[in-house]
Amino acid sequence: MRRGLIDPFGRRIDYVRLSVTDRCDLRCFYCMPPDFHDFEAPDHWLDLDEIERVIRAFSELGVGRVRLTGGEPLTRRGVPELAARLAALPGVEDLSLSTNAIQLERHAAALHRAGVSRLNVSLDSLDPQRFKAITGGPLEKVLRGLSAASQAGFSPIKINMVVMRGVNDDEVEAMVDFCIAHGFTLRFIETMPMGETGREASEHFLDLREVKARLAQRYRLLPGVMPGGGPARYVRVAGTELRIGFITPISQHFCASCNRVRLAVDGTLHLCLGQEHSTELRPLLRAGISDAALKEAIQQAIALKPEKHEFREQPGQVVRFMSMTGG
Ligand code: SAM
Ligand code: SF4
Repeated sequence: MRRGLIDPFGRRIDYVRLSVTDRCDLRCFYCMPPDFHDFEAPDHWLDLDEIERVIRAFSELGVGRVRLTGGEPLTRRGVPELAARLAALPGVEDLSLSTNAIQLERHAAALHRAGVSRLNVSLDSLDPQRFKAITGGPLEKVLRGLSAASQAGFSPIKINMVVMRGVNDDEVEAMVDFCIAHGFTLRFIETMPMGETGREASEHFLDLREVKARLAQRYRLLPGVMPGGGPARYVRVAGTELRIGFITPISQHFCASCNRVRLAVDGTLHLCLGQEHSTELRPLLRAGISDAALKEAIQQAIALKPEKHEFREQPGQVVRFMSMTGG
């Protein structure tokens, strides 16, 4: 028998994206409404012990990869401590973090020491005014965060850029050159209709096959891979160290190889980014569930994992914002 968590479609689940908060110090227009305040109440947040317990259960069920995300994970107190506790779990082989980098300058060294091995940083524009228009925040802090992360020893650092027609699609070449110059990996992402914000932003949807064709006119692109088994399809840029990944949930979805589930800050286990199937773990934890029963509950939840998202067929389906699920 195959070990670990296998869903009804034969997919092995070995990756948890762990949202440590639904709050954020930015307001990217495609993710969270500018005046949004309807956050989860703090007494509903899983505390660090509860999070560690759930991740331990997952790791004993064969999940070796964990990513800290949010909301903005660095807005929650104690994240470097949490990272150290999770990295110390025997089954956790790969601990990574997704951040907007606004507070990264302060935390980079501690996160690296804590055992975070890989870092993804969102960066949608290199123009300070445009960056501000997209996110509401200062680009310069992100750039300082990125240098602190390089200095702390993170490698590779992946830059995630949501490419939107008429918003920042004129910057893809500039972003390629920036990543070549700094030794970062670059990933382009298609806009997803998550929540009202994501649906509105999807007016700017750009099929990344178009971006790839455009880049091929300027750079020699060779087939490439990155270890990790994520959803990006990679190319290498000849004559450089740069790898570019294309994350195409809309134009070429990758549900058949989905290996992940998402744990929200309130203990809701989401089985798919684009569907409502979920299981509430918080009531079980707070009712004193045993470790064995917790693992059983996780196994039962995996049995609910749907086959695929329906962002294209039913773009109005997902009402929660990306920041609530743990993007
Ligand atoms: N705050 C962190 C950050 O921005 O990296 C982590 C959480 S954020 C929700 C994770 C990723 O989701 C970011 O790369 C962001 O650009 C992406 N994202 C948010 N809303 C999206 C949408 N509607 N479509 C595509 N990507 C989205
Ligand atoms: Fe915050 Fe990340 Fe959403 Fe931007 S994408 S609003 S940084 S959670």
